[in-house]
Amino acid sequence: MWKKSHLAEKYGYTHLSAGDLLRDERKRPGSQYGELIENYIKEGEIVPVEITISLLKRAMDQTMAANSQKNKFLIDGFPRNEDNLQGWNKTMDGKADVSFVLFFDCDNEICIGRCLERGKSSGRSDDNRESLEKRIHTYLQSTRPIIDLYERMGKVRKVDASKSVDEVFEKVVQIFDKEG
Ligand code: AMP
Repeated sequence: MWKKSHLAEKYGYTHLSAGDLLRDERKRPGSQYGELIENYIKEGEIVPVEITISLLKRAMDQTMAANSQKNKFLIDGFPRNEDNLQGWNKTMDGKADVSFVLFFDCDNEICIGRCLERGKSSGRSDDNRESLEKRIHTYLQSTRPIIDLYERMGKVRKVDASKSVDEVFEKVVQIFDKEG
């Protein structure tokens, strides 16, 4: 199975998942945000941007400090709402360019089915039907309008993610071959 991190490496990007960074912060001993993050994740809600953006920025800065050539990032699951977008614009103004937004478009029921399947081994507190339905609600209400906004800027590259793993991979590779 291909992973976004492998794909990112192939094209010289560093893959940063907002969700993974939040889950790591949640389990970090002594984190002042652990419980808050857990509550947001279980409820399928979007964690306040101050937390997410500081984790993202720190990961980006650390990557570039270790190797200054590594300045291309595939940021996964961000921005997810207006608050995220404003936080990004404020923190990254003049520091980062957004080349394009990769949009994995998929029917809600297919997404729920795949996450329930993943839930058999993921151990994630949000891979259950109740949390997933809340996440879909959050997506439609808060995230979809952000994708529409990038669409109007001509930045969205859409992939039909309801297709098979191989077909989705092939489409993503075509996009990266073109966009670099
Ligand atoms: P994911 O790992 O992308 O499936 O995200 C899982 C959960 O982490 C989401 O339902 C949110 O609760 C939280 N999360 C992920 N990305 C963000 C983000 N950009 N801003 C705030 N919360 C996020």
